[in-house]
Amino acid sequence: MAEVLVYVDHVDGAVRKPTLELLTLARRVGEPVAVALGNGAGDTAAALAEHGAVKVLTHEAAEYADYLVVPKVDALQAAVEAVSPAAVLVPSSAEGKEIAARLALRLGSGVITDAVDLEAGDEGPVATQSVFAASFTTKSRVSKGTPVITVKPNSAAVEAAPAAGAVEALSVSFSAQATGTKITGRTPRESTGRPELTEAAIVVSGGRGVNGAENFAIIEALADSLGAAVGASRAAVDAGWYPHTNQVGQTGKSVSPQLYVANGISGAIQHRAGMQTSKTIVAVNKDPEAPIFDLVDYGVVGDLFEVVPQLTEEIKTR
Ligand code: FAD
Repeated sequence: MAEVLVYVDHVDGAVRKPTLELLTLARRVGEPVAVALGNGAGDTAAALAEHGAVKVLTHEAAEYADYLVVPKVDALQAAVEAVSPAAVLVPSSAEGKEIAARLALRLGSGVITDAVDLEAGDEGPVATQSVFAASFTTKSRVSKGTPVITVKPNSAAVEAAPAAGAVEALSVSFSAQATGTKITGRTPRESTGRPELTEAAIVVSGGRGVNGAENFAIIEALADSLGAAVGASRAAVDAGWYPHTNQVGQTGKSVSPQLYVANGISGAIQHRAGMQTSKTIVAVNKDPEAPIFDLVDYGVVGDLFEVVPQLTEEIKTR
């Protein structure tokens, strides 16, 4: 069976959930071989093996933390040359997409970004994407060389599938470009204690209907009762009610959670583009004609200032 490389997103050895989701998809198209780089790479092995990695290629070097993405591209290229995989899967983060594009260029192959599903095909892995502001679903495959595919978080379930997880050191020699762009400082964002928006299993969003920055406390309270991340429409962000980092949509972040709760959001196509692939969509809107109701699984026609606090209280009792 062909091997499939999975780029491991981890923080000091703690594997992030999108990588475990990639392992589920990788098993559909081959045997997952994980590539873990940087500080703590070796510590990722147990979690990766538990989720189906037959092998974990590791390389620890200061370059991965000190410079932008090129050292990681060098390492993945070395892994591709060592393994000749059927595909390379990378989580669809901003960094992941840059790594994927650079890698595909190096390999002379092609890249598919923001896949939401992956299946085996006669001529290589076939990726599903949601395109043109989520108006269409397409299936595509890379027709030349080793396919490089980035996959949106929450596109697959995390499944335990114990495998060998043999750890091997990857031999990497960095290219001249690797040390081209040095990171000179990092300022951690103040933690809200909530999950990262693009990785959260549940997202609770607020739009213009929230009617003020101070009212976002209602949205945050519902989010906290569900252990969710908070999102916002562009109208709410443009009004200065919530940070741009939380904007969902075409010019914001793309989310694909198990549950998306839209409050006071009309459902403009640019907003849908960032959330339409959510598994279950709930909307609270006082206008029964709001377009968001065309795509919801559950809709509540009502005033969010009445509905949302009641919902929060009810959830807290469970
Ligand atoms: P509105 O469309 O004004 O809707 C507010 C809704 O709240 C209404 O449906 C109303 O019935 C409801 N409401 C009001 N009061 C209450 C209440 N008390 N209780 C319940 N419901 C209430 N938008 C994005 O979101 N993300 C993007 O990334 C994005 N990118 C864009 C890119 C481009 C190039 C362009 C042109 C636009 C983009 N937009 C984006 C903007 C988009 O077109 C919409 O203007 C925006 O999504 C509207 O936000 P909204 O739904 O919060 O506001």
